[in-house]
Parts: sequence; structure tokens; C-alpha cells
Amino acid sequence: MTNESTLFLRANGKKLKLSHAVILKMKEYRQDAYWKTEAGGILLGRHIIESKDIIVDSISTPLSGDKQTRFSFFRKAKRHQKLIDKVWHESNGTLNYLGEWHTHPESLPSPSNIDLRNWKRKLKQDKFYSDYLYFIIVGIQEIFVWEGCKSTYNINKLQKET
Ligand SMILES: [Zn+2]
Repeated sequence: MTNESTLFLRANGKKLKLSHAVILKMKEYRQDAYWKTEAGGILLGRHIIESKDIIVDSISTPLSGDKQTRFSFFRKAKRHQKLIDKVWHESNGTLNYLGEWHTHPESLPSPSNIDLRNWKRKLKQDKFYSDYLYFIIVGIQEIFVWEGCKSTYNINKLQKET
């Protein structure tokens, strides 16, 4: 097994990097069997000041109290917010909330209308320290990333760098 991270190109020419550990963790929750329910959580990571690249270092996975079915996933917002605060404090403010991820039971995932509505709501309501949030859908075959802009609410799919 190679220890490679996965890079996505952002509109500004900078990169979003998913660490190898994050990719592996997401793949554990891939809905590649009929009994696997939708899963998800938040993205945590760092803004690299010199390069302006962003690295997703860690993710949260379903917490007790989250409701999972094959076609839906509901987060208990309070618990996740607590986790965001805890991680931020324990990392001395270096690990930040960057967005969220969830799985879909399709090979090449695309956001549902409900996903798009939820993402826009997060751009409006969530507390975060940059101009963008990232939304990841883990399909059976591919992992895709969308970038949402806080000021315009535009949501764009990012190209994977090959
Ligand atoms: Zn979805």
C-alpha cells in the first residue's frame, strides 16, 4: 500500500489535500454492501499559511445519537459542535473545522437537492474562520469534493489532481 494523499485543485490555484489516513477512514464507511448505512461527520484540518493550501488531517465518524439509514444521515449538531470545540482547544487552535463528509450508495456520487440545501445553510450559519467550507461525498468508487464560498454561496466541484 502506498502512503499517498489525494490532492484537489481549488479555483484560486491552491490545493486541498486529503491525508492518507483520512482517505482510509472514509473508505471504511463506503457503502459497498447493501447493509452499510449512510455515514458521515466533520472535516478537521489546517490552513497552510505560506502556500495557502489546506490539509484535511482528521475526520469525525458517526457518533452515538446520529441516525443512519441507507439513504440518509442525520448528525446530532450539538455533539459535533462540542467535538469541534474540543479538538480546537486541544490542538491549541491549529485544527479547524473545514466542512463535512458523508457517504452515498452510488459509484460516482453527486449531491442531492437536500445536500445542496444543507450545504448552503451551513455556509450561512456555521462558525468558521475562512472563506470556504468543503463538502465531501464518499461514493462506492470515487470520493468527490465540493467547495462552498461563504460570501457568494456558490458551490463548485473540485478537480482531482492526477
Ligand atoms: Zn447526500
